[in-house]
Amino acid sequence: MADMLSEATDNRTICDVLVVGGGPAGSVISSLLAEKGWTVHVLEKDRHPRFHIGESLLPHSLPILKQLGVLADVEKIGLTKYGAQVVSPYHNRARTLYFSKALDGSQPFAYEVKRAEFDKILFDNAVGKGAHMHEGVRAKRVEFRRNSTHLVHAEDKTGQVLTYETRFVVDASGRDTFLSGQFGGKHRNPHHNSAAIFGHFEGVKRLPGRDEGNISIVWFDHGWWWIIPFKDGTTSVGAVCWPSYIGTRKVPLEQFLWETISLCPPVADRMTNAKLLGHAYAAANYSYRRTTMSGDGYIMVGDAFAFIDPVFSSGVHLALNSATLGAEVVDAHLRASPDFGPRLKEFERTVRLGVKTYSWFIYHFTQPAFRSLFMSEGSMFKMEEAVLSILAGDAFGKSPTRLPIFLFKIAYYLVYLFNFRENWAAFQRRVRGVPETVTTVNDYAVPH
Ligand SMILES: Cc1cc2nc3c(=O)[nH]c(=O)nc-3n(C[C@H](O)[C@H](O)[C@H](O)COP(=O)(O)OP(=O)(O)OC[C@H]3O[C@@H](n4cnc5c(N)ncnc54)[C@H](O)[C@@H]3O)c2cc1C
Repeated sequence: MADMLSEATDNRTICDVLVVGGGPAGSVISSLLAEKGWTVHVLEKDRHPRFHIGESLLPHSLPILKQLGVLADVEKIGLTKYGAQVVSPYHNRARTLYFSKALDGSQPFAYEVKRAEFDKILFDNAVGKGAHMHEGVRAKRVEFRRNSTHLVHAEDKTGQVLTYETRFVVDASGRDTFLSGQFGGKHRNPHHNSAAIFGHFEGVKRLPGRDEGNISIVWFDHGWWWIIPFKDGTTSVGAVCWPSYIGTRKVPLEQFLWETISLCPPVADRMTNAKLLGHAYAAANYSYRRTTMSGDGYIMVGDAFAFIDPVFSSGVHLALNSATLGAEVVDAHLRASPDFGPRLKEFERTVRLGVKTYSWFIYHFTQPAFRSLFMSEGSMFKMEEAVLSILAGDAFGKSPTRLPIFLFKIAYYLVYLFNFRENWAAFQRRVRGVPETVTTVNDYAVPH
């Protein structure tokens, strides 16, 4: 059936599945569906390799990469990350959380990767599995037709109009949120509306020895910083800031990035000899989600459904998981299997659970009470091990994290109450900053 369908008729390409977006989510779902024998076409508006942010992977993504057959290639380009260094200027010290101490210590490390290289590995893997990948082609609109195939209208870089007739559509368009653009229904997160400024640098000081590949997360008054080292000696450095701070920008983005670095001594110290490579970048207003992630003839995977603050490096992990489960949903639909309903339910439940698990930590991460708990050594009731499990990507209920995480939350609220004035003031400050829209930067705005 798949071969018959792949015949092009009337200048239309006919397929079983049309995937919009060739990032991690799009490449993974198309690999898995092509492997199952379906005719899959993927539209990617850019050409790989291309710059993308989101460079710190989580340990529990590694089994998925292994299942896809790309783990050895990722290992070649990746710098091993055994944990996360958390730096608190408010406590004047740093501590490192190692993944090996998680409840399920079977995944003690992950990799830091340049996304240009990582995404190309996944994209090429999909080609190898038989998916038809079209680079430089932007999906423009879908005509959903009840009880029939659907038409996806697209355009290539020369302006040529292309049409794909497909039985199923997967939206894997990332933060472009392609189908939300057509349907609406995308809600900006009212609790967490920040923006990021970042760049790639050379000459950034590294952590010693085995810790060289660890991500550093540094709190500062306007949000938090990441420092992600790469195998080739370069480093990704960026800050996630409240809109009220981003709104103060009066200078070009690169200068603003350097000025912001100077406001955070632990980061500035590591960057005394650093040089920006290429442009400074920005991503704005970025936490959102949709109410629904599926409908008649389509599903959304990865950032196309939801995006949450990247402080726990959860984005690629959530994208890989939703793509893996999404492939089962699409396969069941195409086979008209009675499994379709249960698979869809499982897909939606798991994706929402992942987003929800990380969201609580993200909302409280910049509170003084959270900082105090994170900086205190020693673990009671397996709380630290459970938090580490979540940080390692074990966020879908595999390990028994429920009780210790519940206790961690209670501990957090007790510490909050104990230092109520300080925490309330920090909360008020954040809430005041949040309703603003970040209009002074655009996604990947370069140069200005
Ligand atoms: C500042 C910042 C820091 C981050 N840090 C991390 C981190 O350290 N670790 C982590 O795991 N995650 C991080 N993330 C999140 C991570 O970037 C995403 O979660 C991840 O890339 C999602 O993968 P995806 O495949 O869903 O989307 P994407 O990777 O965005 O891929 C979507 C693809 O779709 C293409 N596309 C879009 N629209 C169309 C169209 N109409 N037609 C054709 N193609 C289209 C795009 O070109 C793109 O290639 C970060 C995000 C931000 C903003």
